[in-house]
Amino acid sequence: MEKYELDKLRNLPIEGVADRLGLKVKKHKALCPFHADSHPSLSFHVGRNTYKCFVCDAHGGPIDLAIKLTGKPFIEACRWLADEHNVILTEWKPAEKPKREFPPDVEYLSQLVQHPVLNAEAREFLFRQRRIHPAVVQWMGISSISVATPCWRHGKPYYDAPSLLFPYRTRTGQLMNVQSRYLGREAGIPRFRFPSRSECRIFGLPVVERLQMGEGLWLSEGVTDCLALLSSGRKAIAIPGATLLKPEDVKLLANLRVEKKTVFHIFPDKDQPGEKLYRRLLHAANEIGACLIRDELPDGFKDFGQWWATQA
Ligand SMILES: [Zn+2]
Repeated sequence: MEKYELDKLRNLPIEGVADRLGLKVKKHKALCPFHADSHPSLSFHVGRNTYKCFVCDAHGGPIDLAIKLTGKPFIEACRWLADEHNVILTEWKPAEKPKREFPPDVEYLSQLVQHPVLNAEAREFLFRQRRIHPAVVQWMGISSISVATPCWRHGKPYYDAPSLLFPYRTRTGQLMNVQSRYLGREAGIPRFRFPSRSECRIFGLPVVERLQMGEGLWLSEGVTDCLALLSSGRKAIAIPGATLLKPEDVKLLANLRVEKKTVFHIFPDKDQPGEKLYRRLLHAANEIGACLIRDELPDGFKDFGQWWATQA
């Protein structure tokens, strides 16, 4: 919100605001809503555009009054005020504003994954259920937490526990972000989480540095499938979310095709999002003149990870 808009709200006549908020104003006084008042002890100072209660010391201007009586947070109370008084706020169009993304607190996050630990739930999931190769887990620096942990310094607990922590790194190994994968049994907890309003799209980028000339690279839908593909000896990266394939992602694939003559492969998940990701990637591959080979899973398996878990 602009400062001049805020000033407009601050200058809304205090008694009019009080009236909209349901107070009965008479001779610049009203029953104070902030204490059990039987005698009007809330006074309005029209010149200063403020209110004050001489009993309970509640005081402030139009915005304070709106916040206290509507129970809304600052911005929302401002919007309510603006709406009630036909003030047009430029900020009053949240849908048109692109959502801002914040870079995650990488320095702090790196402490979480610096010395990887695998708790019992992590070992059970990775090694027993999914049969992920320990060398893959180690090389990817996968860690785990047993207690809920903030994703920002001084933050509230955010990564639920028990969870795996997947470090997302650049091609050269710099930490970009950390994604958690909840392993507990509580209902209603999201399975995957990134620090809020941050995003990171490709997991396993350091793998592409190891690609030989002309070698195949498997594109998977999620991190766990990517780990299964790596465990099977295939080079793989994960592109989470079939809905979004950003231009940067396509550019990476284009660069790989040129630099390393990479041939791309995919085992599409046998569901709608899987097909969608396949079609998106095929479209992108055609655009950049790359080859995308579609590998099929044996019948009865939903994704590569599920099939891999039954092998060996
Ligand atoms: Zn009062």
